[in-house]
Amino acid sequence: MADPALVVWMGQTEGVSSLAADLARILGENAVLHEDAALRAYDCDAYTVDRSKPQAVVLPSSTEEVAKIVRYCVGAGVPYTVRGAGTGLSGGALAALGGVTLSTKRLNKILSVDPENRRLTAEAGVANKRISDVVRPYGLHFAPDPSSQTVSTLGGNIAENSGGPHTLKMGVTVQHIHALKMVTVDGEIEEFALRGDGLDFLGVIVGSEGTMGVVTEATVRLTPSPKHVITALASFANVRDATESVAAIIASGTLPAALEMMDKGVLGALKAAFGLEYHPAAAALLLVECDGDDAQAVEAEMQAVRQAFGRHAALEVQIAEDDAARAKLWVARKKGVGAMGRLAPSIVTHDGVIPRSELPEMLEFIYAEASAAGLGVANLFHAGDGNLHPCFYFDDRDPGQVERVIETGERIMRRCLELGGSVTGEHGIGVEKIDLMSEMFSPADLAVQGLVKSIFNPGDLCNPCKVLPNQKSCAEHRKRWRGVAW
Ligand SMILES: Cc1cc2nc3c(=O)[nH]c(=O)nc-3n(C[C@H](O)[C@H](O)[C@H](O)COP(=O)(O)OP(=O)(O)OC[C@H]3O[C@@H](n4cnc5c(N)ncnc54)[C@H](O)[C@@H]3O)c2cc1C
Repeated sequence: MADPALVVWMGQTEGVSSLAADLARILGENAVLHEDAALRAYDCDAYTVDRSKPQAVVLPSSTEEVAKIVRYCVGAGVPYTVRGAGTGLSGGALAALGGVTLSTKRLNKILSVDPENRRLTAEAGVANKRISDVVRPYGLHFAPDPSSQTVSTLGGNIAENSGGPHTLKMGVTVQHIHALKMVTVDGEIEEFALRGDGLDFLGVIVGSEGTMGVVTEATVRLTPSPKHVITALASFANVRDATESVAAIIASGTLPAALEMMDKGVLGALKAAFGLEYHPAAAALLLVECDGDDAQAVEAEMQAVRQAFGRHAALEVQIAEDDAARAKLWVARKKGVGAMGRLAPSIVTHDGVIPRSELPEMLEFIYAEASAAGLGVANLFHAGDGNLHPCFYFDDRDPGQVERVIETGERIMRRCLELGGSVTGEHGIGVEKIDLMSEMFSPADLAVQGLVKSIFNPGDLCNPCKVLPNQKSCAEHRKRWRGVAW
């Protein structure tokens, strides 16, 4: 049965003005948005096929202000959802049950830089790339580098345990967090740190998709930037040669810093959007970067990569050894997603993981499924991690197309599971994958996860309807999302 305290906020305007007035009394009027036009800007993240408006947006400027808002929401039974830059690709930051969206936009200070101990402390709303920019003079960088890094926030990266092109060698966000400050659902300000003793709460909170509290600050680990970097861009006449090269490179014992793939759909988009052209017979590109402090070892790694390219009939291999040439080779990877915006009004990027050896078969499966559904698809992904990103481009004004994108994505994710993989590598479960959780985990597994979550978030007011299925009051949201209200 639905929890009346939650349902009262769903899709109604009554009580909204008093909510906004209460919030304005706590934070001041310039920290509260409640006009319809403003709220529309917060009704989804980058997974745009699911939308749900909050009744108010708050813009706190300190941890203490976050704590006040959380205490108010919990006291009044109002659901609240924290939002960073809103670049999430699984609907994590949408206000599924309405209520309050708590933006970290004004939590944007770098609090301390400690190059000697390779640490930096920043507020949660700081953009990922700003951290690396600030510590570059010390020869350091923040290793997690999601392709959204110019805007996506530290808090969002922590919540999603984000990866990026350099995850293959450097790991995901959790490996780069020393400590964090979080406002719990009780409105308490707690600190969690990496210590040798006690339970690893950081490992539980990082990746919990904003369902356990509001992270307001974090201390991150900084990584020395490598002295030598060689980058290669190889063209292949077909996807199978490219994907078999990926498995061959890894099997050779080489661990590149990045191993990214772009298929013909991406090449077509790059040409349409920016006039970029690659080898005329290319159906796929592989971008490989090797790095380290020992020039000879980096050279030897790249030699092994080139041998794998040779064995798999690469049409052309371009090599870059300086920053200017390297930037040119990265253009296809960096501009690929943006280019797809030129192909259709909307895109949905799916995210799954499979063993790398299954890449050739999986790509064929994706093309067959997209063709059967009459959908355009392009693939641009972290091939070295076996982390797929089939990106469907379509017209979201047509409910039938939206439904086919969701269903086709689910079929691809089920295939990932059959091949021994996972339904997400880095974009999270959010609302998008929630129905697939019970296919990936047994009821007992889900019950244990629910127990852990309930310790941090007993009433489900903090980011409801995300990650774990069958939450109270979420059936209505799910029904709207699956096309009923389109
Ligand atoms: C073009 C593009 C490229 C991308 N490339 C990558 C990639 O290479 N790798 C990758 O992993 N992802 C990628 N993403 C996905 C996305 O950028 C990441 O998930 C990113 O970490 C989200 O950060 P954000 O600040 O936008 O968070 P939001 O989208 O605002 O929120 C994401 C989730 O985090 C929670 N959250 C946000 N801030 C906090 C906080 N302070 N405390 C608690 N919870 C919080 C939200 O509630 C939500 O559940 C990409 C997205 C786009 C659009």
